Amino acid sequence: MADFLDDFINISKEFGAIKDEVSDMGARLMGEEPERLIWNPADYKEYPKANPAMCVRCKYEDASCSKCLDVCPTDSIEFEDGGIEILKDCRRCGLCTQVCPTNALYISKYSADALYKEISKVAGTQNMAYVTCTRALGHVPEPSQVVLPCVGLISAEVWTSIKYDFPNVAIYLPIGICDKCRTTTGEEVYGNEVMLSEEWTDQNMDLVISEDEMDFGIRRDVERRDFVKNAAKSVGLNASKVNPITARLARVYEKLEAHQVKFDEINKSLDRLLGVKNSEKPRKLTPERQLILTTIKDHLELANRMQVEVPEINNDHNWDEEELKEVVNSCPTGALDIKDGTLEIEPTYCVSCALCVDLAPEIFRLETKSAEDAFYRFTPEAQKEREKELKRIEERKLERKEHIAKAKKLASKAANITEKIGDEFEKSDGK
Ligand code: SF4
Ligand code: SF4
Ligand code: SF4
Repeated sequence: MADFLDDFINISKEFGAIKDEVSDMGARLMGEEPERLIWNPADYKEYPKANPAMCVRCKYEDASCSKCLDVCPTDSIEFEDGGIEILKDCRRCGLCTQVCPTNALYISKYSADALYKEISKVAGTQNMAYVTCTRALGHVPEPSQVVLPCVGLISAEVWTSIKYDFPNVAIYLPIGICDKCRTTTGEEVYGNEVMLSEEWTDQNMDLVISEDEMDFGIRRDVERRDFVKNAAKSVGLNASKVNPITARLARVYEKLEAHQVKFDEINKSLDRLLGVKNSEKPRKLTPERQLILTTIKDHLELANRMQVEVPEINNDHNWDEEELKEVVNSCPTGALDIKDGTLEIEPTYCVSCALCVDLAPEIFRLETKSAEDAFYRFTPEAQKEREKELKRIEERKLERKEHIAKAKKLASKAANITEKIGDEFEKSDGK
């Protein structure tokens, strides 16, 4: 059945050029001008916004965090009077927003969640998705290309989640392109993030260096579905009320929706198990941590491979309760707390910004641990949840297997019927 459909699709592709003309004409007849995109690299760039309440340097000027300053290729970030100023020389590369552990600098359209969704949409409908930068591309992107101001905008967490969910993603960067780029720190940043993600996932990230090597095709399953819908419509069958493009996107949205459900489940279980608030203020889960928790849920091996830094607490030290309360309140994500006179940390919320270590080095010391030990180590109640989750994953796998078996049976039935019709047609000599 699939081969049969594929032959038809191939024939219909011959009409590709005509189809574009026809759809343009259709749009004009409807009084709409077909959309003509103009290449403007500035469309992909935005100045970062600042939220000083989340910045460790704004809270404590001797804080050791200088990630944004170190990565900025134009020295365009200044800290003054507890605030952050982005100077006019900013190239809008976005790298400071990617390296900032607390999201004190951010560009909403390039948040971890937004990037995941953007790449998923392309990878879910095209044979391949190519992530690239404005400089490397230099023209209006094809539907298979995702353009960013710098590939370094994608964190190891986003690469990891993408790589697990969509294996058909590659980076497109011609050789030597980064060497000549004025975003001088971009290559190192993207290299580090990709390397980290490769370590965590134990999978290599594909790199494409020439546009000639790219596959701009639409995924065959998507194409088949579009074709069937088109065919049904053309013979007047109301098989679907949605047009093929909507159907194609709907398929991706289904996947993204499932992802969002997992996101919400994570949040709910964290709220239940760890509390949305510490004793003083609400806790904040960064989009990167939220994304990686969602991915770990389906790929538990990742929790062992992923390494993070979390503070170890020396509770034997004699500390002044008032001073310590100040440290606890300074933690930008609310990961610290004092409960019944004991200092506690909830590492799920910790972003390794090191502010607590800078403020009270006698009490806090950063240690490298696996994500499993750091933030995926659950309370006994959560351990049960984890076992349930593992069971659910197994059940889902079984369900999928059964579905595939059923689909195969149906496909072979359909193929038999098609064959019979063909035989009958031949027998009747085409009459
Ligand atoms: S790192 Fe990039 S986006 Fe951030 S301030 Fe510097 S030039 Fe601007
Ligand atoms: S918390 Fe973010 S904005 Fe503040 S110094 Fe660190 S990297 Fe820069
Ligand atoms: S616990 Fe310490 S290192 Fe972790 S987010 Fe809070 S201040 Fe930063």
